[in-house]
Amino acid sequence: MRLDKLLANMGYGSRKDVKSLLKKKKVTVNDEVVKDGSTHVEPNKDIIKCNGNLVTYKKYIYLMMNKPPGVISATTDQREKTVIDILSEEERIFEPFPVGRLDKDTEGLLLLTNDGDLGHQLTSPNKDIGKTYFAKIQGRVTASDKEEFKKGVVLNDGYQSKPADLDIIDSDDVSEITVTITEGKFHQVKRMFEAVGKKVIYLKRLQMGKLELDKRLQLGEYRELTEEELTYCQ
Ligand code: URA
Repeated sequence: MRLDKLLANMGYGSRKDVKSLLKKKKVTVNDEVVKDGSTHVEPNKDIIKCNGNLVTYKKYIYLMMNKPPGVISATTDQREKTVIDILSEEERIFEPFPVGRLDKDTEGLLLLTNDGDLGHQLTSPNKDIGKTYFAKIQGRVTASDKEEFKKGVVLNDGYQSKPADLDIIDSDDVSEITVTITEGKFHQVKRMFEAVGKKVIYLKRLQMGKLELDKRLQLGEYRELTEEELTYCQ
């Protein structure tokens, strides 16, 4: 690929900034100063340095975000703030997109990547990937709700949901639960509780398959997946 394109993709500024770096002899390829941006380089073979620092090329980015409430799971929107708006330019240059959707008011684990194959695999309805949520529910959640969820409930559009695993942490005027579902229908958890006459008042995703939300991430914070976490997604 072209040297100027690689540097721009890796966050060394616009094509114009990169041109200026090259002109100032700040870039070396295999220890030779290179001033011509059109020079062909092999990203994973040539040793490219900028200001003496090694430029490591990567094609894909995989981020785990603790999605805050109030932002939408989309790449762009005319009116609303999106999860992509939270990212810094360093990540945005990779053009990541959210894998699956969380409602505007839902918090928690959201994966962002520019790897279309992985995104597709994780959202494929045939994969049966478990997604675990913590929720606060208005009213008492009972063992009978747990049984209903185990059989699958009928949503407001007549759709019979797949079985879901409901665990009651605290049953009170406001109950606390975790639920694991293997589907990702629109407002699925909220509609499943509606089906048993209850209302979700707080929802947070904790886990997708084996990938768990890093508890150290505050709302709106994100980090790259570790190598191990990435294997959970493949
Ligand atoms: N189920 C919902 O109702 N909302 C979400 O954001 C995710 C799952």
